[in-house]
Amino acid sequence: MAKCQDCGGIVKWRPPFYVCLDCGLSFRRGEFEKVKKTIKEEFKEEMGESDEEIDRKDRQRKRDYHDWLMKKEED
Ligand SMILES: [Zn+2]
Repeated sequence: MAKCQDCGGIVKWRPPFYVCLDCGLSFRRGEFEKVKKTIKEEFKEEMGESDEEIDRKDRQRKRDYHDWLMKKEED
């Protein structure tokens, strides 16, 4: 069931719009998909790190390990 991104109310398909039954917010189908994506990304930001950030840190960690290994072999 679709939910309103504004009030969390139930959203119904009323061609050509999705309409929130609680606050009356309406948007087109494509916009709704966009909104859902935006919410997901905002949520992710609130939750902490984005995929890119995690990926970057993961690469950094591997590089650090590699550096450490190389130093170790020099000794
Ligand atoms: Zn609403």
